[in-house]
Amino acid sequence: MNFVDLNFIDECISQLASCTEKDRPFTRLVFSEEFIQGRAWLTQKFKELNLITKVDDAGNLVGIYKSSTNASKKILIGSHIDTVAYGGKYDGIAGVISGLAIIKFLSDKNIDLPFDIEIYDYLGEELNDWNMSCIGSRGICGALSEKMLNSKNSKGIMLKDEIDRIGGNTKKIDKLSNQFQNVLACFELHIEQGTTLENKGIDIGVVESMPNISRHKILIEGQAGHSGTTLMENRKDALVVASKLVIFINKLAKEISQKDNRHFVATVGKIEVSPNYVTIIPSDVEFIIDLRVVNETSRDFFFNQLNKEIIKLKKLENLKINFQDLMNSPYTEMNKTLNESLKKSANDLNLSFMLMDSGAGHDTAHLAKVSKASIIFIPCRNGISHCPEEFTKSINIQKGSDVILKSILDLKDNFNEII
Ligand SMILES: [Zn+2]
Repeated sequence: MNFVDLNFIDECISQLASCTEKDRPFTRLVFSEEFIQGRAWLTQKFKELNLITKVDDAGNLVGIYKSSTNASKKILIGSHIDTVAYGGKYDGIAGVISGLAIIKFLSDKNIDLPFDIEIYDYLGEELNDWNMSCIGSRGICGALSEKMLNSKNSKGIMLKDEIDRIGGNTKKIDKLSNQFQNVLACFELHIEQGTTLENKGIDIGVVESMPNISRHKILIEGQAGHSGTTLMENRKDALVVASKLVIFINKLAKEISQKDNRHFVATVGKIEVSPNYVTIIPSDVEFIIDLRVVNETSRDFFFNQLNKEIIKLKKLENLKINFQDLMNSPYTEMNKTLNESLKKSANDLNLSFMLMDSGAGHDTAHLAKVSKASIIFIPCRNGISHCPEEFTKSINIQKGSDVILKSILDLKDNFNEII
């Protein structure tokens, strides 16, 4: 088997990277001027590869490699070209370019398939000003509610108006998920955004699951007082208690993750202190726990222990601690048959691979709820992502693309058996 074109991948990465806010590379926020430039670039690439191009009702940009057999079945390959502010050149982008490289290979070799391939730039995967991620992939799965579409950003602009402005048609969005009856597989390639593959020297991570992601708010109510006159034994300092809890959460999560052989991480990344004044004892603190877990038992154990600690601290420190659930996105398994195929492809191509869980959410998490879908990871330097230093070698994108391409060619060879 030949391989997808390495130079083509290189060129595409640097061309798309030039569509950025000039004074803060690499920034291509969804719906921005730079994002529209990025899409114009991608539309041009679709045209060069003779793909049929469209923007679907959810605002996803799609390039279609048509089968000559007038096929009804199709395969989706996609990721996203939007970035966070001061983001990187590879997060999402590697996946879209991988799709282009696969199509270039098929088209250069004149390979006709019994199904269509659709390359997707899923609209707005990164968290945006509407406090939402994965707009486009939610949209095609029927998971963009009326409430979400009508929500307004900080400038008062409704999400649905922006989707419609870039070519979507949100009035018809609820019909989109019907297409999945004809979808044989959805593939995504993504940089790992962690260090597992790099540290182990492994080429491909075949993702088994996206963990259960949940966020929880803890509110601590103490008593404000003069920082100079209130004696230490008379204080109800909410920040001191919050600090104890933050350390407890970190220690507990470390212990659980060492025992659990699946993904388990807990983070306190947002904290608010009131009145946040240098001469006043903190009266109120609220912080948010971000928890990502595969194993339900580990999750239960975590909350059990945390609850005991909260009860203990409330008594010991004589103040109020409240616990509140904010959001909960369920555990999603990737399709096992597709994963078998991806593992076989890696093996056939003499590439090393391992099964792993994803720590981050991706477009494929939504697709996997309504369709056969899976995602593979490739290593990225030092696991760094969401910053300009984000890097992976083009050969890593080539290897990952080859694995997906091989699985597509296997689907072609076994087409009569699978339909
Ligand atoms: Zn991404």
